[in-house]
Amino acid sequence: MASLTDSVGVLKGVGQKRLVGLNKLGINTINDLLTYYPRRYDDLSIKDLATAADGQKVTVKGIIIAEPTVMFFGRKRSRLVFRIKIADNIYTVSFFNQPWLKKEVSANDEVIVFGTYNQARNTVQGMKILTARTANSFDSIYPANKEVKQATIKQLIKLAFDAYQPLLVDIVPASLRRRYRLESFHDTIKNIHFPESPKAAQRAFRTAKFMEFFLFAMKVQILKGAHRKTDPAAQIDYDPKVLDKFNAQLPFKLTSAQTKVVREILADLKRPIQMNRLLQGDVGSGKTVVAAIAILAAISAHKQAAIMAPTEILAEQHANSFASMFAGLNVNIVLLTGATSAAARRSMLPRIADGEVNLIVGTHALFQDDVHYANLGLAVIDEQHRFGVNQRQALRQKGTSTNMLAMTATPIPRTLAITMYGDMDVSVIDQLPTGRKPIKTTWIQSAKTDSAIGFVKKQLRQGNQVYVVTPLIEESEAVDMKNAVAIFERFRAIFEPDYKVGLLHGQMSNQEKDDAMVAFKNNQFQVMVATTVIEVGVDVANANTMLIFDADHFGLAQLHQLRGRVGRGSTQSYCILIADPKNEIGKQRMKAVASSTNGFFLSQKDLELRGQGDITGAKQSGMPDFKVADPVGDLNILTVANEEAQNITAEKDWKTKPENVQLAKYLQMNQTINYD
Ligand code: ADP
Ligand code: MG
Repeated sequence: MASLTDSVGVLKGVGQKRLVGLNKLGINTINDLLTYYPRRYDDLSIKDLATAADGQKVTVKGIIIAEPTVMFFGRKRSRLVFRIKIADNIYTVSFFNQPWLKKEVSANDEVIVFGTYNQARNTVQGMKILTARTANSFDSIYPANKEVKQATIKQLIKLAFDAYQPLLVDIVPASLRRRYRLESFHDTIKNIHFPESPKAAQRAFRTAKFMEFFLFAMKVQILKGAHRKTDPAAQIDYDPKVLDKFNAQLPFKLTSAQTKVVREILADLKRPIQMNRLLQGDVGSGKTVVAAIAILAAISAHKQAAIMAPTEILAEQHANSFASMFAGLNVNIVLLTGATSAAARRSMLPRIADGEVNLIVGTHALFQDDVHYANLGLAVIDEQHRFGVNQRQALRQKGTSTNMLAMTATPIPRTLAITMYGDMDVSVIDQLPTGRKPIKTTWIQSAKTDSAIGFVKKQLRQGNQVYVVTPLIEESEAVDMKNAVAIFERFRAIFEPDYKVGLLHGQMSNQEKDDAMVAFKNNQFQVMVATTVIEVGVDVANANTMLIFDADHFGLAQLHQLRGRVGRGSTQSYCILIADPKNEIGKQRMKAVASSTNGFFLSQKDLELRGQGDITGAKQSGMPDFKVADPVGDLNILTVANEEAQNITAEKDWKTKPENVQLAKYLQMNQTINYD
């Protein structure tokens, strides 16, 4: 029986070689082929050149007024030229390297040409000659490769559509299709591949995007359900009295946003289900104290807690601040990193294994093979975007029923976070503690760099420290380093011997980087020249100024994260962006960072100004790759698709409801639902 999961090998004309080529394009099944969407459409409807824009692709029809000529240059290159008359105007048409087309054209013939219009020269550079039959349509253009050409893909899609169209039944429940005015699956596929107008293709794409998000969201919900199996050992029966005592001895009052997320976390911990929660909060929003409360909750329930940070210096900073926060609360802390001496390690490991130590702070060292935990009830991952999924899981798997709290300052919209991090619940701290002096940010052109250096001098004279961030060249860490070294030398020449200048870049070993940060923290350097490696949350309270070179090369969210390194002490802080943006959007981006200190606002702005999914690190964070939908540009569709998937799976018997039958069948076929 025919099925959409049939191999494309069943189609006529697909032999072994073509099959390999198709597989390379990610096309294995008929379903893959039918959902292999065009990259663009060529509009083959005949245009009036009077209204066409320069450089536009156009289809024109005219009479050839003189015999076409072909000229050859060398062996392979040639140019076919003829003049055509359209209305009362004469245009020159040329085709490069297609000498055989001469056979198809001669004087006094009518001809239809598709090509690029050059207004100044009154020419059309031809791409193809059309017949009356192919003109006035929309030509779907597919990504192709050497083995499988454009035309072949088109032909195969037509074959597959003709043979399999009765099987294109609707997966999205009818009520949703009505609510969002979506097309049927059959029409979607038809209108994407063979649209009658650009509008028809657009409508079909809208449905395709919804479908893609919706099916993804359904999978996430189902996965989440699977994770949410009852597990009594995961329950943290914490002692509220201990938490009250901790709160009472805090030097500040929690913000209402912190209180809200603490409540969410505690409720989750108390449930006999493993917590899997992402805590999102802008730089400086106070995630650490929230983690501290979760940790103390676990410890008060006689479990162990671990917190993992991406760098040694950050781990050390946490160990110190927890030691003072937890004074008098029966918390036994150790710090375990790559720098821990062999002797210290030897004495520490048995104390972790027998449960005497109840809080383990560290880096990747926390999940090494020889580290055994007595009863790891909670694993906290700080700056979680710095870790891979496997590393996060590796720590969690050090316990049997370990709750997980992952923290990040990456200010991405909540819906996107839910998508990116799949089956996690998300808590957001959307408020900064009061009484902070907002960082003053200014943007200057590079011609004014000297005045910025003058400002830096003034800050240094007042005893403050300064970060200097060097340009970001995405392609190469080696180039970034060269830039950093050049600026380092330049600043040394300006400031030494009065002030010392340090250097930090990505090509240094972790140990070297940590050493440099520690030296800066201890004020052994007053100026730290660095690439973006300083992004991660280290507190140097005495650093109040940051200079960022070529600031327009950074994402807004990243600039925001970077400047979050200053503004941690009581003095006024400053951030100076040096940039010569080339266009209006670039200028607006700089102005946005200078005028707002709200990370969420900036990330939203970044999306608006940049359009397509350019969120820093989004790819590395394991964000799923969608075919047609763009989680950033199509955030609205993602939001509703996600809500609807939640609504559906909230009902216990959703799989057996008549309108969901095809959906359940599809998800089962794709091995998402396990029915046993
Ligand atoms: P991040 O969310 O970037 O990790 P931290 O947890 O490091 O932020 O907190 C930044 C600073 O704010 C710390 O010095 C912390 O003690 C302080 N802080 C946290 N919560 C509050 C609060 N509610 N009121 C005042 N200061 C706070
Ligand atoms: Mg932090």
